[in-house]
Amino acid sequence: MNPTAEQLTDWDKRYVWHAFTQMACYEPLIIESAEGCELIDIEGRRLLDGVSSMWCNVHGHRHPKLDQAVKDQLDKVAHVTNLGCSNSTAILLAKRLAEITPGDLNHSFFCSDGASALEVAIKLAFQYWHQCDNPRPKKTTYIGFEDAYHGDTIGTISVGGVDQFNAVFKPLMFPVHRLPIPDRRVPDEASACTYHLRILEESLEKHHEAIAALVIEPLVLGAAGMIVQPPGYLRGVRELTKKYNVLMIADEVAVGLGRTGTMFACQQEEVVPDILCLGKGLSGGYLPMSAAIATTEIWNAYLGEFSEAKQLCHGHTFGGNPLGSAVALATIDLFDEEKTLKQLPPKVARITEHLAKLKKHPHVGDVRQRGMIAAVEIVRDKVTGEHFPWTERHGHQVCQFALKHGVWIRPLGDVLVIMPPLSVSLEQIDQLCEVIGAGIDAVTKGKDASR
Ligand SMILES: *Cc1c(COP(=O)(O)O)cnc(C)c1O
Repeated sequence: MNPTAEQLTDWDKRYVWHAFTQMACYEPLIIESAEGCELIDIEGRRLLDGVSSMWCNVHGHRHPKLDQAVKDQLDKVAHVTNLGCSNSTAILLAKRLAEITPGDLNHSFFCSDGASALEVAIKLAFQYWHQCDNPRPKKTTYIGFEDAYHGDTIGTISVGGVDQFNAVFKPLMFPVHRLPIPDRRVPDEASACTYHLRILEESLEKHHEAIAALVIEPLVLGAAGMIVQPPGYLRGVRELTKKYNVLMIADEVAVGLGRTGTMFACQQEEVVPDILCLGKGLSGGYLPMSAAIATTEIWNAYLGEFSEAKQLCHGHTFGGNPLGSAVALATIDLFDEEKTLKQLPPKVARITEHLAKLKKHPHVGDVRQRGMIAAVEIVRDKVTGEHFPWTERHGHQVCQFALKHGVWIRPLGDVLVIMPPLSVSLEQIDQLCEVIGAGIDAVTKGKDASR
């Protein structure tokens, strides 16, 4: 007999330990099925998936082509190890990634989660300096950014910097050079790019001999609150890292796969990083699948006689899993078949129109957007940008409102995130943005806007 909704709710609270969740006050939302851009919960409620199931979904849920790709692969084999062994689907995916990524990013190391792809990248860069043609073994540290997010393993929280999440783990973390968020608004839009590049160059000047790599989320820092970088910054980072002989690791786990309007965010500033990390949308959000893709320069440093022991001693059990590879290949194919990127401009423009309206609200501070990523910041005071006390959870309250009105979104504090699957329709964008506007109205009603 199938369990009742009540039983599932009870068991979810009791047996499942949810990510980033205070289980003592957790209220379950339990999804039973999905269709396109909508999730359907155990009560049969239909909810627009306003955050792409946390950056993952690209072409919609239960896309017939993606479903078929998994089914076809199931008829062959579900799992093959990649330790000294291969499978034809992962090979095709690696070749495809080499073709679609910029420059000579030609060598894919497959993992399952974004964090594990970043861990590999961090280690690849480190060992590279021990065995490249001109070794620099003193390069043992990294440059990262305040409030950057690269995952939750010890290595990734060391290079990332969301202090609020990680304060307790400080003693476990390795030290890195942490730069302020390259926010397009700081100190102002006209000088932000030069300003932040100068900060980077000062750090590189002083420390480059000790720095193995810089790790960056290109164009948009996601978990930091969808902070948009000034135009030209990413290109500048690439030029400076080259100048100071520091590797560049681009974390495109969130912004990759079309999210910013191009297949990869780096392409918007014609940047080729030394290592490109993908995850989340790589499998269309279907299965755990991630990759750290390295240039031939890095790959070559790891080649040698067996006795030289130059190989990377690192692996993940499910890396290159054929089911994940099959759906990743199909996801990339769909970009061609459905002309996904070509369909985006009107959707991006529609979001822009809504943001312009939302920005007029007395309790909306900044609104920001890069392609299909957008955010709306709730503030107490529009002029000073002062926030409400975080314990009042205005962002969360708007999300609760949205849930009652058929839209599922998640906040980053008081920042509301607009990030639907790329296959979203214009009508669904309207629905999503209108519910957010109504939610902000409802939650801030009667509050003094000029305090
Ligand atoms: C989500 C995310 C990660 C971590 O990916 P997981 O699959 O959750 O481990 C890393 N970097 C960025 C930019 C992300 O958004």
